[in-house]
Amino acid sequence: MSAPDGPALPFEPFKAKVVERIPNPSREDRERALERAGFNLFNLRSAEIRIDLLTDSGTGAMSDRQWSALMVGDEAYAGSRNFEEFEATVRELTGFPFVLPTHQGRGAENVLVSVLVRPGSIVPNNMHFDTTEAHVRNRGGEPKNLASADAYDPESDLPFKGNVDLDRLGALLRTAGEGRVPLAFVTLTNNAGAGQPVSFANFRATAELCRSHGVPLYVDMCRWAENAYFVKTREPGMRERSIAEIGRAFFDLADGATMSAKKDGLVNIGGFVATRDARVADRLKEALILYEGFPTYGGLARRDLGAMAVGLAEATDLEYLEHRIGQVRFLAGLLDRAGVPFFKPVGGHAVYLDVRRFLPHLDAAELPGQALVVELYREGGVRAVEIGSIMFGGQDGIPARPLEMVRLAIPRRVYSASHLAYVADVVARVHARRAEIGGLRMTHRPERLPHFTARFAPVERAAVAAPRAA
Ligand SMILES: *Cc1c(COP(=O)(O)O)cnc(C)c1O
Repeated sequence: MSAPDGPALPFEPFKAKVVERIPNPSREDRERALERAGFNLFNLRSAEIRIDLLTDSGTGAMSDRQWSALMVGDEAYAGSRNFEEFEATVRELTGFPFVLPTHQGRGAENVLVSVLVRPGSIVPNNMHFDTTEAHVRNRGGEPKNLASADAYDPESDLPFKGNVDLDRLGALLRTAGEGRVPLAFVTLTNNAGAGQPVSFANFRATAELCRSHGVPLYVDMCRWAENAYFVKTREPGMRERSIAEIGRAFFDLADGATMSAKKDGLVNIGGFVATRDARVADRLKEALILYEGFPTYGGLARRDLGAMAVGLAEATDLEYLEHRIGQVRFLAGLLDRAGVPFFKPVGGHAVYLDVRRFLPHLDAAELPGQALVVELYREGGVRAVEIGSIMFGGQDGIPARPLEMVRLAIPRRVYSASHLAYVADVVARVHARRAEIGGLRMTHRPERLPHFTARFAPVERAAVAAPRAA
């Protein structure tokens, strides 16, 4: 099925039972909101937003089966029935015997990293997401991003651009020194790298390398089901396997996982950490009680565990994933027709605009990603997020890594194809007037995770030219 002359329309394998009115702020409302928010879209109110693509994290719609699971919560502090359902589901999907719920993904990261990482530790990953990176640094460790070079090329049309660079990982493990690498992560899909998937072949080789050096391998499995969809549809020999089977094949090679169930758990809050190692599990439990809660609830209402158990299973439904990835492709197809530059091929949860090609006249010090995010909101009330020199940057706006992106993340089961067509139209209008878009400067820089609370102001072009010349 397709729109006239357009990309394929993704068929929604669900229908609405409850609806929510979408706000329609005027241009004046939007200008006022930008000023008040210090040009940081994290400071906007929902009522000021027409289409919210800030994140796909915890923003999805739950199914009727998840809502009914919420209604039969067993709110026992310890030993809740919902915990048993949740534990059984995670064990079946991952094979990890020890499963500890957490309030969200970063809770899982904090617990795991606090137990394994020491000052001087080195922690490899294809690419750390912002919270993972912050937790490793918070314990004195050094995060290392070892994605293959393709991950940094916005135009290479390769199927698995989230893959680990095995040569660099091998070199790191050989030279790091005894005990310096307490664990390695692989992030499925690679959110900090345009949501690109990791192939099973690359994951298997990564696991073999880690095993041969005695380094435990943990999966950042936030989007494991989306990753499995790409493996099923792109990797030779995988087509006949189910999503759950492909996921399990990955986990069978790993030692544990951290999960934000706000992604492929299809819930609004929740997460977990899981491991195969009984001794690590004991230490995780101690940390869990300190930071999250008793091991049978981990910072959540027990009813949340019930909804999470149902959501994790629903995320492995092929028809659901066809719609999910189909929506990303639909939006990308419309943007492509309008000549808008973005990272190709698109991944599983978002379209990542290529800021360098979108705003080539702005340099990194002018915070072009944030400038673009502000213009998308100004133009049509669309909220996106910068993933670039602010989210991952070093000091003074100088980028610490070579990607500069604006992410249009699609919430799960929330927006329709016509909403996405509206977004494509807004982006195309901003693209058409891109030459007149100016930069921003940061007026308030918090030390950690600056993107959440920083404030900005527009800059005159002349004001940035001076320090650059110096
Ligand atoms: C969202 C996310 C996290 C952190 O999870 P939260 O639930 O937001 O704390 C970690 N890693 C990746 C890849 C993510 O996308």
